[in-house]
Amino acid sequence: MSRISRIKGFADMFPEESERYTFMEAQARRIFGVCGFREWRTPLLELTELFRRTIGDETDVVQKEMYTFVDAKGRSLSLRPEATAGIVRAYVQESCYERERVSRVFTCGPMFRHERPQKGRMRQFHQINCECLGDPSPMADAEMILMLLEFLKAIGIGKTVLKLNSLGCVACRPAYVERLGEFLAKVSGDLCPDCKRRAAANTMRVLDCKRPECRAVLERGPKMSDFQCADCRDHFGRVTRLLDAGGAAYETDPCLVRGLDYYCRTAFEVLSADIGAQSAVAGGGRYDGLVWSLNGPDIPGVGFACGLERLAMLMPPTASAVPDFHLLVLDEGLLEDGFALMQDLRGRGLSGVMNHEVSGFKGLMRQADRSGAWFCLLLGPDEAAAGAVTVKDMREGGQRTVPRENVYDILAGDKS
Ligand SMILES: [Zn+2]
Ligand SMILES: [Zn+2]
Repeated sequence: MSRISRIKGFADMFPEESERYTFMEAQARRIFGVCGFREWRTPLLELTELFRRTIGDETDVVQKEMYTFVDAKGRSLSLRPEATAGIVRAYVQESCYERERVSRVFTCGPMFRHERPQKGRMRQFHQINCECLGDPSPMADAEMILMLLEFLKAIGIGKTVLKLNSLGCVACRPAYVERLGEFLAKVSGDLCPDCKRRAAANTMRVLDCKRPECRAVLERGPKMSDFQCADCRDHFGRVTRLLDAGGAAYETDPCLVRGLDYYCRTAFEVLSADIGAQSAVAGGGRYDGLVWSLNGPDIPGVGFACGLERLAMLMPPTASAVPDFHLLVLDEGLLEDGFALMQDLRGRGLSGVMNHEVSGFKGLMRQADRSGAWFCLLLGPDEAAAGAVTVKDMREGGQRTVPRENVYDILAGDKS
């Protein structure tokens, strides 16, 4: 029988990598918590209908990238390809708007898309998402963007560019989309097949095309900024003033559209200069129609998502936790005694492990070396007879035999 290997596009994360994700999540919890955001956890599996309604039938995500299957009851279920739909579904289902005027939510976890795997893009990937539901103010947009930048700084992502656009609203966007449609019909021959298809189904999505041929054509097209209504113009102006006041540099990019249908007004993206073509590390925007599209009340929202795989590639190395001790028991008869010592130290907040079998001294010392622990504790017959432990400093060198009750103080004191 052959060995079973993991499926393509999925990753096993060993400690060095896993700890980077834990670090990012810890920074997110700290910074978002300061800003009043609280963590929600929604299911990884939802009815397929949810994603069809929120993301849109015409999108690549819904058409070809979801992991969808029919369960024993004949229902079509999908692994979530993004987090916002599930959050908003929960928000509407539990009528959260009746309990609080503004819900500030973040969530961390895996998403699933059946895309071609490449560097920094996995079929099971991880995101941190923030959503602010119930707040129409441009202050919510600005707060969100500043919080995102703060988070990126905290995990050591230095070289970033913030791009902003306004996608207009139901009042002013239709006129723009119509003009864009007319323009695209005229230049249709110069567009790629994807753009030709999108031009009819979801016109603004054409702006998202990354092909240089299409980009060159679109440069000449109409710009949303020329069609914005007074409210949208005012909203965007206030967002940019708040960002200026918050010390955030940005570039406006008229071709920045978000990949999903329900975005309006503010759209933003943070790019890193370090990963070339795949350079967006976070993106988001306002989605005032989304709650309503799930039969909730007409409640506005703004949010963003960051892909952790790309951030993990860009982050400086994080220091792994170093164990405080590695306990070596040198005599079979002392294993239980040693176990009690180890448990006492762990109970007081020190980290470490011990040997469960007594083998040659050299082999045991090698284990202690490999553990990377600050201290090696030796418990042999001499130490046991004297009620003592030998403490060996693995960094500085040197060792001394001390009364057992002093071990904690020595380890805890030297830690700092
Ligand atoms: Zn408008
Ligand atoms: Zn194109």
